[in-house]
Amino acid sequence: MSYTGPDFDPPQSRRFRRGPLTVVLAALVPGALLGWAVYATVGGPDDDGGGASTSAGVSAAASSAGASPSGGAPGGADATDGRRPSPSPDSGSPAASSPSASAPAGTGPLKGKIVVIDPGHNPGNFQHTAEINRRVDIGTNSKECDTTGTSTDDGFTEAEFNLDVAHRMRALLEEQGATVKLTQDDDRPFGPCIDERARIGNEARADAVVSVHADGSGAGNRGFHVILPGSVNSGAADTRAIVEPSRDLGERIAGNFVRVTGNAPSNYVGGRTGLVTRKDLGGLNLSTVPKVFVECGNMRDSKDAALLTSGAWRQKAAQGISEGIVSFLRG
Ligand code: ZN
Repeated sequence: MSYTGPDFDPPQSRRFRRGPLTVVLAALVPGALLGWAVYATVGGPDDDGGGASTSAGVSAAASSAGASPSGGAPGGADATDGRRPSPSPDSGSPAASSPSASAPAGTGPLKGKIVVIDPGHNPGNFQHTAEINRRVDIGTNSKECDTTGTSTDDGFTEAEFNLDVAHRMRALLEEQGATVKLTQDDDRPFGPCIDERARIGNEARADAVVSVHADGSGAGNRGFHVILPGSVNSGAADTRAIVEPSRDLGERIAGNFVRVTGNAPSNYVGGRTGLVTRKDLGGLNLSTVPKVFVECGNMRDSKDAALLTSGAWRQKAAQGISEGIVSFLRG
């Protein structure tokens, strides 16, 4: 996905790693976006006076995030494995930084819970443009079956990124006892189409579905955001029952993403809350189970790209998302 927005690139240095104070405070503050609120409180100066919000769904947490957010994420120092991505899902030892001890199969706090992870796009989509351009019904209107996704300037594709984060999430969630299903694992030539992606979660009767993406916005636009389903009741789409639980899921993911990665929410959509509500995504419109999208960063921004291409950072991203899911499922 891409957004148009102002091309801010503040002359901000990589000021700091997440400082001990931030870590300590964040660890003491439970809840959804409170981690970000704490970050904002101890963060640096405002950099641009506000990014564009193409479809901002400002949450109840917006007021806390409006304190004095730093637009530049403090991350970057953890890009330990260089610019080139490591496409192997095993790089960076996905299970190494699990927040808790491994649970034997079939046990653990998430025993009986079903999580569907939807790695956005498919590495093969580039070779199947005719197939992925086919229109599918998303309730409100029709839309392309799927898209290719974006990439970094160095050619690390979003599809590769999404799959890698999905694999890391699967390892972390299975450690907690969850049953995890992926909508695709580079095991098919292209797709699935967005309607099928939704259907996979529905038919699995998933307790939570997370679609993993990275954005393709302008340079200077930085940070992650979580996309929540808006209330839609049109044709095959009826999200009314999932709006609230999906918001809960999304807020918990956003809060944990900030806490674990130390990165600020998007400076270009969502009014700095890290939350955006949309009614134009088939994968959300057609879902009958709690579902959100996570745009982990902007592949077209060099600073974000340095994070996204780091296996160590992807592990943190996977951990942040997974801990949000665990929090949601445990209530
Ligand atoms: Zn995407």
